[in-house]
Amino acid sequence: MSSDRRSFLARLPVLGAVPAAEAAPQSKSLVDRLFAVFDALEIVDTHEHTALEQKRLSEPADFFTLASHYLMGDAVSSGLPKSAQDVVNDRKATAAARWSAFEPWWRNCRFTGYGQALRTTIRDLYGVEEISAGTVATINERIAARLRPGLYRWVFKERARIRRAIVDDNYNAAPMKLDPEFFVPARKFDRFVTPPTPKAVGELEQLTGVSITSLGGLKQAMEKSFAQSVAVGMAAVKSTIAYNRNLEFREVSEADAARDFEIMMRRERPLPDGFRRLRERPLRNLEDHMFHHLVRLAEAHNYPVQVHTGLHAGPNFITNSNPTLLTNVFFLFPKVKFDLFHIGYPYQSELAVLAKMFPNVYVDFCWAHIIAPGVGRRALHECLETVPLNKIMGFGGDYNFAELSYGHAKMARRNIAQVLAGNVEAGIHTEDDAADIGRMLLCDNPLALFPLAK
Ligand SMILES: [Zn+2]
Repeated sequence: MSSDRRSFLARLPVLGAVPAAEAAPQSKSLVDRLFAVFDALEIVDTHEHTALEQKRLSEPADFFTLASHYLMGDAVSSGLPKSAQDVVNDRKATAAARWSAFEPWWRNCRFTGYGQALRTTIRDLYGVEEISAGTVATINERIAARLRPGLYRWVFKERARIRRAIVDDNYNAAPMKLDPEFFVPARKFDRFVTPPTPKAVGELEQLTGVSITSLGGLKQAMEKSFAQSVAVGMAAVKSTIAYNRNLEFREVSEADAARDFEIMMRRERPLPDGFRRLRERPLRNLEDHMFHHLVRLAEAHNYPVQVHTGLHAGPNFITNSNPTLLTNVFFLFPKVKFDLFHIGYPYQSELAVLAKMFPNVYVDFCWAHIIAPGVGRRALHECLETVPLNKIMGFGGDYNFAELSYGHAKMARRNIAQVLAGNVEAGIHTEDDAADIGRMLLCDNPLALFPLAK
């Protein structure tokens, strides 16, 4: 949300215009009881970026590794200068030197959602209550001691009780089978939607073995990649295209898209430099047409589509990721189920409205409980009043490192327990209903939407 809009809302009198505050539960024991129920559940995680365990174990890790995702983003936002960041990232520097470069900025962010997730993780998994100059060496030793086969079983199964997580592919990776004990893949096809140069087209040819000399060739290559993804057990189509451009995809004719393809191949309309390309898309006809082709493929093969909406990791144009921009696509493809990520924050009310209006739109709380735990609670309260229960996905860790997925899962279970306890105390439903609802959000709903995650 822009600071302008926030201060505008703050000035509004308390009327219906401002979302009502969540009902704060009075009874701690009720929250604790519900938390215990959800803590015992084996949950389904709709979104992660976890590397295969073998790859994770091949790289050294310490406190600063875990802090790099996402906490370091808050440290940079708080003013961490590049020079200090270089010291923090310098694996050859001593832990003490790295901590002193980090500490002033850590103090600014240790209580943000990301800060809470990191502290919860270090406390629960590594047994260190306070992250400080005096404890960072111990934390490093304990992280290193766990860096051996079995790390994921310990974190995902024993501690986080995550039955299975849907994991994004690396942007340039070929379709790859994941370890089915923990993961099932979501596959991205954005590169087929937005190829900016003949060189990028050449990479798609290499990836798929399909010769691409026309719009038809580009579609065939996308179809081949789609088939390869189905073969490795893809659970969902995923798009992070809102990191590159806005989410409005107009209906564009084959002829107009083909014209853009030719222009691209002749290098006549290069993308503008730097941030400008996030707004100006000289090949928009091609991109819009190809996005529709992707959704058509998802429809033909009956795959749900996960879309990044809302907050970006790092600076971007937030308006590009407003989920309402997808509205025409929801009308055009009523049979495709759209799982909209990150509650669309700061557009969580817009997303709730979309999910209320469209049978094919789902709200996904992945990332939300750590972006802003309080917003997560308020948004859940709002969704429970507006969106049918079966269309709310309660948790996705959205982390590179397994340990932090644990911290996030704990915060999500507690958030859900708090909101449902408030509803019990408000007389909306019983404690038994709360237990059922929590199970739907954390387990039944993601399994129904992503049957291949079973
Ligand atoms: Zn993500």
